[in-house]
Amino acid sequence: MIIKDLDRVKEVIRLSKEEEEAFKEVTKVYPFSSSLYYLKVASRSDAVRKMLLPSLEEVDPEVQKFGQDDPLNEEGDKKTPFLTHRYPDRVLIVTTNQCPVLCRYCMRKRNWKLKPFVIEDREIDRAIEYIKGNPKVRDVLISGGEPLSLPVEKLERLLIGLKRIETVEVVRIGTRLPVVDPEKVLREELLGLIEKAEKVWINTHFNHPDEITPEAKEACRALLKSSAPVNNQTVLLKGVNDSADTLERLFRGLQKIKVRPYYLFHCDPVKGVMHFSTTITKGLEILRELFRRISPLAIPYYAVDGLGGYGKVPLLPKRFKKVGDHYTFESFKGEIFTMADR
Ligand code: SF4
Repeated sequence: MIIKDLDRVKEVIRLSKEEEEAFKEVTKVYPFSSSLYYLKVASRSDAVRKMLLPSLEEVDPEVQKFGQDDPLNEEGDKKTPFLTHRYPDRVLIVTTNQCPVLCRYCMRKRNWKLKPFVIEDREIDRAIEYIKGNPKVRDVLISGGEPLSLPVEKLERLLIGLKRIETVEVVRIGTRLPVVDPEKVLREELLGLIEKAEKVWINTHFNHPDEITPEAKEACRALLKSSAPVNNQTVLLKGVNDSADTLERLFRGLQKIKVRPYYLFHCDPVKGVMHFSTTITKGLEILRELFRRISPLAIPYYAVDGLGGYGKVPLLPKRFKKVGDHYTFESFKGEIFTMADR
């Protein structure tokens, strides 16, 4: 069940006076939407609440003054109305602007203001023709909005179309459905299609350990059973997960359910989202601490996305430097040691 209006929200979650005011004010600009399931998760978790409920900072011109609608210039790199081609070997297909849950930190918040759209069949065919004509493209990212909310027949047209292109080796689906509405993942026709499409990898989007519920685990297990590797992308969000303790719990929790932490994105400077921004310095400090605590298999790439379309740059805390013909390193315990460069 999808909930969009304040009265229904209040039936599930008790709002303070300020939250109610913010809801009324902010939704004039940026709408609200949640599944009943995720609203219940938010009622038990302050961090999830912060990602879900509107806050006045979203529309505060002072807070948002450095934000841009499309800081990564996705619109500028479009080759068809739904396909962006930036890296030589990869393309992005944005299939819809519809999501069951609207995350307040969304980097495509600009699309919330558009009329609802879902990719039409002829645009699917056009995207497929473009990829056929560009054989260097081996990796297709399907994103949204929520691609797993598309009608299964539409998703089938796209996935089976991509399966038939020999030069395409990987099809990644970016989805938050296992986190925000896990029951919807457990549809036989959807899981069957993912298996049949063969090339599919799933990129989920857990940001906080409170989101790893028994229901979410079951959804991830079902996706793994359907033969899709499951990786996770997290966004570093102020007041939600910007501490080593929280991210350690998140990444360990994901590894336990066999979901590989893949990216930790620095929060992009998006209009309406700036209040979630931390500094890059803070992100690197957290990462340094994580390397002291957990195995690299549970540590994602921390990456910034270059403004204007420069692409992603993975960052590592600097733990070495060259001194003459030696390197000086810092161990996970903070000890310093050297090795000759030979
Ligand atoms: S699910 Fe993804 S696209 Fe949809 S609102 Fe959340 S972050 Fe944005």
